[in-house]
Amino acid sequence: MKGFFLCFLLQVFFSSADTLPGQQRHEKPGIAVADTSLGILILVNKEHKLPPGYRPYDLVPLEERYNRGIMNLLRREAAAAFALMCRKAEEDSIFLWNISAFRSDTVQRQLYENAVERNGVHRAERFSSRPGHSEHQTGLTADINSTHSSFSRTPQAAWLRQHAHLFGFIERYPRHKEDITGYGHEPWHFRYVGVEAAITIYTNKLTLEEYHGTIQETTRSPAR
Ligand SMILES: [Zn+2]
Repeated sequence: MKGFFLCFLLQVFFSSADTLPGQQRHEKPGIAVADTSLGILILVNKEHKLPPGYRPYDLVPLEERYNRGIMNLLRREAAAAFALMCRKAEEDSIFLWNISAFRSDTVQRQLYENAVERNGVHRAERFSSRPGHSEHQTGLTADINSTHSSFSRTPQAAWLRQHAHLFGFIERYPRHKEDITGYGHEPWHFRYVGVEAAITIYTNKLTLEEYHGTIQETTRSPAR
């Protein structure tokens, strides 16, 4: 019982700790703290929020050759996988580069507030995350080449759709999955989950939310 109350208090604390002034009425109930012990499989979305000030301990800059963004840090393993993917793409005459990788919650707050100001909360939330709810804060995500919807029709996007999983990356917000992910299609936003999980997710056409659901079901079902 004590544990339950502690969890409850933690949830209340984390879900309201950095609510934007005047935005409180839009905060959804039932927001959980993202489980950082999941490592590269961490789930961060509209229902799972990172602890305030969360910053991965092993952020490294991406190889300059594959970077055109100001925010060019990824976790060490993801950065190595990203560089390898870019090198292999080059062999197929496909040129890839990062335009936005790790973002602190301070930067994300600024982006979110700007998006809300320009578009209103409802529209902004289809493409912009509240601080603490952005995958970019995990240091496992990169926006690649362009954040314009026309990117999906480029050879670079086609190459990524076919090969990214082989390097441990998944297209995190696929077309027609908005009701599950909470975001519209983002053909440029790739999330590192490691090769094994990426292949399972790609082969079964899952989202990261569905992948976690499947794992939970498997662990919950009684052994026979
Ligand atoms: Zn992104």
